[in-house]
Amino acid sequence: APARVLVSACLLGDAVRWDGGHQRLDTAVLRRWQAEGRVVGFCPECAGGLPVPRPPAEIEPGADAAAVLAGRARVLAHDGRDVSAAFVAGAEAALRAAHEAGASVALLKDGSPSCGSTCVHDGRFAGATVPGRGVTAERLAAAGLAVFVETEVAAADRWLQAADGGTIAASPPREP
Ligand code: SF4
Repeated sequence: APARVLVSACLLGDAVRWDGGHQRLDTAVLRRWQAEGRVVGFCPECAGGLPVPRPPAEIEPGADAAAVLAGRARVLAHDGRDVSAAFVAGAEAALRAAHEAGASVALLKDGSPSCGSTCVHDGRFAGATVPGRGVTAERLAAAGLAVFVETEVAAADRWLQAADGGTIAASPPREP
């Protein structure tokens, strides 16, 4: 069977974003993956129990996703609510979904407090970003998955081809 890939549901056109919208990634590679039966769509924030729409949320200023997973920092919604538990639950559910599907690769929407893997918002709700991962991306990367952002679909495709051939590179392609 072809190697499978966990993909942020919003990149597939599912209207699951905080604002009720999606972020469809319209590329031939993704359409081919779907035709090949590789794609496992997943929204960690929905899986963690958050509604659509929902207030935007950010990892608190100065903290990172590893600290959230360790219970040492919080994810806060714009209305002030502590949504850390939902974010951590969503990250664990994403890892279970990846394992159940046998996916060793993920293509995740960058900039999200769950799915971001090169940058996330800085916690001040003013649009600024800082380098870092979201909570789900951190959990998947820590478990050894190769995590790519939506602009790296070609690199993710090469990874999948290598997985099909049984020749996975020794280490993930980059660190944030
Ligand atoms: Fe998309 Fe991830 Fe946000 Fe869900 S949590 S809407 S999949 S970026």
